[in-house]
Amino acid sequence: MYITEKKKVTKYLERIIKTKCDVCKREIPNFEPCKREKSRFFRVITGHHDWGNDSCDSIKEYEICPDCIQDFVEKYIKKVDGTDYIDIETDYASEEKYFDEEYEEE
Ligand SMILES: [Zn+2]
Repeated sequence: MYITEKKKVTKYLERIIKTKCDVCKREIPNFEPCKREKSRFFRVITGHHDWGNDSCDSIKEYEICPDCIQDFVEKYIKKVDGTDYIDIETDYASEEKYFDEEYEEE
């Protein structure tokens, strides 16, 4: 049986407030101008999946806007020696995304 108590805690959430393209450094707006639709961008993860400690270090994450994605992939493929993993995912810019949670006891 668990014996419990009520405790007041403050919860900190790390919220994404802006998304910037890693290539052109322009901000990817949370909404498409004129439309009230969330704007699309690409989350790209690259790395080699070889065995070894450096496998983890080889992983890089990028947020890339639709204007830059083609160029980025093309350039990446050209200098691909020693790298054999690329993952591209569509994502939407939003203010409603949160990272890690942190708690502070009062
Ligand atoms: Zn860009």
